[in-house]
Amino acid sequence: MRNYLSTVLLATLALACTPKEEETTIDYTTLSDAERLEVAKEIAQETIMVDGHVDLPYRMKVGGFTLQREILDVSVRTDGGNFDYPRTKEGGLDAPFMSIYIPAGLQAMPGASKALADSLILMTERLTTTFPDKFAMAYSPADIEANFEKGIISLPMGMENGSGLEDDISNVAYFHKRGIRYITLTHGKDNLIGDASYDTTGTYGGLSEYGEQVVKEMNRVGIMVDLSHVSDNTFRDALAITKVPVIASHSSVRKFTPGFERNMSDELIQAMAKNGGVMMINFGGTFIDSAYAAGSGKVREHLVNYMVENNLSRTDSAFEVYAAEYTAANNPFPTVQRVADHIDHVKNLVGIDYVGLGSDFDGVGDSLPTGLKDVSMYPNLIAELLKRGYSREEIEKICYKNIFRVWTAVEEYAATAE
Ligand SMILES: [Zn+2]
Repeated sequence: MRNYLSTVLLATLALACTPKEEETTIDYTTLSDAERLEVAKEIAQETIMVDGHVDLPYRMKVGGFTLQREILDVSVRTDGGNFDYPRTKEGGLDAPFMSIYIPAGLQAMPGASKALADSLILMTERLTTTFPDKFAMAYSPADIEANFEKGIISLPMGMENGSGLEDDISNVAYFHKRGIRYITLTHGKDNLIGDASYDTTGTYGGLSEYGEQVVKEMNRVGIMVDLSHVSDNTFRDALAITKVPVIASHSSVRKFTPGFERNMSDELIQAMAKNGGVMMINFGGTFIDSAYAAGSGKVREHLVNYMVENNLSRTDSAFEVYAAEYTAANNPFPTVQRVADHIDHVKNLVGIDYVGLGSDFDGVGDSLPTGLKDVSMYPNLIAELLKRGYSREEIEKICYKNIFRVWTAVEEYAATAE
């Protein structure tokens, strides 16, 4: 209930408001869609935008780019992929976490995972030394703010799969020194640290003993604990041990994808909020709508049958034309509204302070929603949130304030840890 004192306080605060603060009370829902999109583009440009997960380093590796050869030139518009400098600028993205992704298949070969991590880090650094007016490394929220002021895109790094640590706990500090600021504890398969969501083996029933040490060591040196890709049990175990808030760098809400453990259940979202963490919503079709997996499967099946019945191969131009038309007519893709539904769900369940953006661009193939196909399209999502009555302050929290809060807490804890 509002008492007299709080009414007076509110009146005083209103008087003290600067014009900029007053902007936050604008009712964007009364604007037309076109007007709202213009406002969204402005907000995207004026606000720092962090994305928890972009798979550019691995896209470069798959593209055959190695340190011995040229890196993929993403300083100019590229035909393929979801990320390059011009589109990043258009979309108002300022700090995409570069995923240093280590496939679980390498876990069987001792040393191979760390070697790949080292080479992907070098490749990311190479981007910033080749295009220093466009990209810069970033190891802290302060670095991102400084780069933002200069109009330079920050490339912070997260290691996707703790397998890169191999079996040596001292590698946690080593990778912190190399610039890694979050580690996704597992990927597709159980590893030395713990059980993964895509694996049904249940090797440890959660975190391993080594995994417990790893979480403590990450807290100590100041690397964010990323719980995307872990099993529910590993998630709970890690939350019980960590002294600081955690992240999920690219996970969505399981309510929209029943049975998909890779996404977060309401119970885990609530536990994470209690811990003060942030979940960054994955845009991939299979992450945001279970109808997409079914729909895309049907389209694929039809096209394969068509190919066989008509004696065509995948590369025949007749087939390519038909496939493009059929896919467009039977569009299985979810829309940008669906991504907003995920943000809404987290906001309604635990509040606005625990949600961010973790697109998985360059990592989810051709499954992205209509209106969010690449890094140039974040304003479409912001416009949708404005339409739903989100304030500018709430959008800023989603774009960067929530992840900065967690990151800063992790930095501060490490600064005082022995
Ligand atoms: Zn992933």
